[in-house]
Amino acid sequence: MARYRGPVCKLCRREGVKLMLKGERCMGPKCAIERRNYPPGQHGTNFRRRQLSDFGMQLREKQKARRIYGILERQFRRHYAEAARRKGVTGENLLQILERRLDNVVYRMGLADSRRQARQLVNHGHITINGRKTDIPSALVSIGDIIAVRPESRRKTYFKDLAESNILTKKAVPSWLQLDPAKMEAVVRSLPTRQDAELPITESLIVELYSR
Ligand code: SF4
Repeated sequence: MARYRGPVCKLCRREGVKLMLKGERCMGPKCAIERRNYPPGQHGTNFRRRQLSDFGMQLREKQKARRIYGILERQFRRHYAEAARRKGVTGENLLQILERRLDNVVYRMGLADSRRQARQLVNHGHITINGRKTDIPSALVSIGDIIAVRPESRRKTYFKDLAESNILTKKAVPSWLQLDPAKMEAVVRSLPTRQDAELPITESLIVELYSR
């Protein structure tokens, strides 16, 4: 599946907020938002953040959500269509679907520093769902699913280092996942709610945009 391959800090600067796309670097002084908090491009320094139109605000919210989860437009629209088909509030359904993506779950478990890195771990076949290797980052997890590192992959330096560093025991894992740090696996206890997404996004604006 296609993905954005350009510089990610530009995306944060475009949105004017930290989208946390680079893991640890996002916390430090090297974060581009800390150093150059203006839009990228030749005229970025002259840019004054102006009052956006309704459409502008809706578009920015959608782009923000899309960029946080690292999804291109076509796939995001597909997730939206699925959310609209389901019962309940479409915006909340959308966030739930995004949270249930396998790459997001791997990130939430603390196996990767960023969703981007998590996606790579999935793509490279290091992750299993219920014991079966799954290399599709957009696969959605369900209640009762067990997400784990493939036994063969646990012998790789990356996962050995992760195990030795005990980082997983210190990670704050959302309540809908039950993590076993020693086994590097998590069970989906319930479906994520709006609060679990913990995102600076007004999902109703995304719904308004796609309902135009
Ligand atoms: Fe965004 Fe992280 Fe880059 Fe800062 S370091 S601009 S938060 S991706």
